[in-house]
Amino acid sequence: MIIVLDPDVSESQINEVTAAVRQHGLQVHRSDGVEQTILGVVGASRGIDPQRFALLPGVRDVFRVSTPYRLASRQFRHEPTLVTVGEVTIGDPEVVFIAGPCAVESEELLDGAASAVATAGARILRGGAFKPRTSPFDFQGLGEPGLAILRRVADRHGLAVCTEVLAVEQIEVVAAHADLLQVGARNMQNFPLLAALGRAGRPVLLKRGLAATIAEWLAAADYLLAAGNPNVILCERGIRTFETATRNTLDLSAVPVVKELSHLPVIVDPSHGAGDRRWVPALARAAVAVGADGVLIEVHTNPDIALSDGPQSLTPEQFAATVNRCRIIASALGRTIATGVDHA
Ligand code: PEP
Ligand code: MN
Repeated sequence: MIIVLDPDVSESQINEVTAAVRQHGLQVHRSDGVEQTILGVVGASRGIDPQRFALLPGVRDVFRVSTPYRLASRQFRHEPTLVTVGEVTIGDPEVVFIAGPCAVESEELLDGAASAVATAGARILRGGAFKPRTSPFDFQGLGEPGLAILRRVADRHGLAVCTEVLAVEQIEVVAAHADLLQVGARNMQNFPLLAALGRAGRPVLLKRGLAATIAEWLAAADYLLAAGNPNVILCERGIRTFETATRNTLDLSAVPVVKELSHLPVIVDPSHGAGDRRWVPALARAAVAVGADGVLIEVHTNPDIALSDGPQSLTPEQFAATVNRCRIIASALGRTIATGVDHA
């Protein structure tokens, strides 16, 4: 249920409406927009008549939400949400590039990638220290030492850090090293992980599940929002279809659809979408053209020796060329892409 308040509602009226909702054992999430304050009612509200709240002073409208998600919806918040990661704002006119290897392999290799992506215009360094691998016999990541490497290298090059959290017990150590906590596609519906990340005090990058509908994805975002974390960035990374020519099918239509349905920023990961570096530059350009707020690209200084996702990783030269071409598209749309600086 969503309660839209009058534009001139007073604080005491808001408190009364909030108290009335809580009397039913429901929670209230408040969204203060430029023109209107909206209360999102969370909990089992099915049996409760919206009219109970519609007649309270200061209430303009009460309606039930028919979608499985509420807090991520545009009905709850009209204005786009801006998420700040380190010193970078996502959802702004700037299209933010997040780049780096699939996994942190060594300080030397990561440093090479970080230098290259910072120079090309990326603002956030990515790299997995805890890797969700299909086979238990594949490289699982360096774990905690990988996080320390990531932080040191990113700081050296003036970049923020994005890295994956696989399990609740990793949240504390990952949050101590990273600016943006990634939930991988395989964990999109790991509800205990999402609820715990909702309390982690760090922005979250929520990848779309391999077979998740947009509604399921936004409902997963609601777990983070309902647990008290407003800083959620959605990431389209391709879904499973009958097509086998690409690793996944990058659903670029999700970008305008999500922008219509939700206030959350949305970025695109063409690397996991394509699974092959030949298709990544074109898909990155398309992502910018379709309105993505950011692009996540895997980059490795020597993709042939990468311990994971080498075939889809761009070389530093390919990455720089891709960012330059994306910049032309961004500027045609009134958006910007940072020009590179390596602070090393
Ligand atoms: C990754 O970003 O390296 C990754 C494992 O992504 P996904 O969860 O989208 O497969
Ligand atoms: Mn990867």
